[in-house]
Amino acid sequence: MVDVLNSVSAADLIYPFSEPPATGEIKLVAPGVLWIWIPLPFRLNHINVYLIEDGDGWAVLDTGIGNVQTRAIWENLVRGPLRGRKLTRLIVTHFHPDHIGLAGWLCERFGLPLLTSQTSYLGCLNISLSPGALDAAPYRDFYLRHGLDPETTALVATQGHGYLKMVDNLPPTFMRLVDGDSLKIGNKTFAVLTGDGHAPEQVMLYSPAEKLFFAADQVLAKISPNVSVWAVDPDGDPLGLYLRSLGQLKSMLPDDVLILPGHQLPFYGLYGRATQLIAHHEERCCMIEEACLAAPRSAADLIPVIFPRPLDPHQMSFAFSEVQAHVNYMLRSNRLHWSEAAGGIQRVSATG
Ligand SMILES: [Zn+2]
Ligand SMILES: [Zn+2]
Repeated sequence: MVDVLNSVSAADLIYPFSEPPATGEIKLVAPGVLWIWIPLPFRLNHINVYLIEDGDGWAVLDTGIGNVQTRAIWENLVRGPLRGRKLTRLIVTHFHPDHIGLAGWLCERFGLPLLTSQTSYLGCLNISLSPGALDAAPYRDFYLRHGLDPETTALVATQGHGYLKMVDNLPPTFMRLVDGDSLKIGNKTFAVLTGDGHAPEQVMLYSPAEKLFFAADQVLAKISPNVSVWAVDPDGDPLGLYLRSLGQLKSMLPDDVLILPGHQLPFYGLYGRATQLIAHHEERCCMIEEACLAAPRSAADLIPVIFPRPLDPHQMSFAFSEVQAHVNYMLRSNRLHWSEAAGGIQRVSATG
């Protein structure tokens, strides 16, 4: 899931389509590729789903969340704009509810195999099997000792239940997609790429011949995807992994691919956009560094440095995890170091 907290200005991108398809309609974005816009009940109010021509049917890329409204959209699409042409398989890019939520229903309703990364499948399954697992002392303590208030801590610790409200039970089997695989869909051949940072082992598809890049949430036109530390991997470095992935995309893909992202409009300008996103995170690191030169700070102390406006508890939880990602990244590169832990709160200082 991404949130609109992280708006990052996007200069010099080219948008070949000025607006998305209306809900329930399809738009041809490349030969044999259809674009569908599915509403979401969040501030980021939609997800892009794509259909890739697959013989006499369509392979589906991502699903929308699992609710009655999204099911109705799919039923109407198949009966209406797709004129009864069948769906052939479902590819899911990552385990966030807007991308995987309806996978169980779609696979069962239309008899589709599910293709996704192992981590996406297991990540979703893990929450489904044990939605309350995060509500345990080691995880609550992680948030509290980094200065997060008890109300937001409780929200983060119980979010597995909210996830399940948006996600159907997964099909019992899946086909694993692995970075470096080649995936043939109809007459197109895609390289399977995976990238971390926003979600572990997020799947992206690249067709060199068609110059198409299905980027999922890794590269979006106007926002930076959330990059979050989670309590089960408290010293993890999702920001470092995200920056590594952006660097790989810049070096592996040509600049003139059409980027078909998980949200907002498709665009050209991969190299420029990846460069902007890298610069955006470096700017945030510099803001944190400056604040920590003045005094030791906890991750929670740093939230208003990066997000100066008032935040509701939901936004606060995103903001905390995002700030923690920058802190962990900077700890690894020795730009920050642990300072005193006073009153049970851990703080970092700038190395200077
Ligand atoms: Zn998303
Ligand atoms: Zn996402």
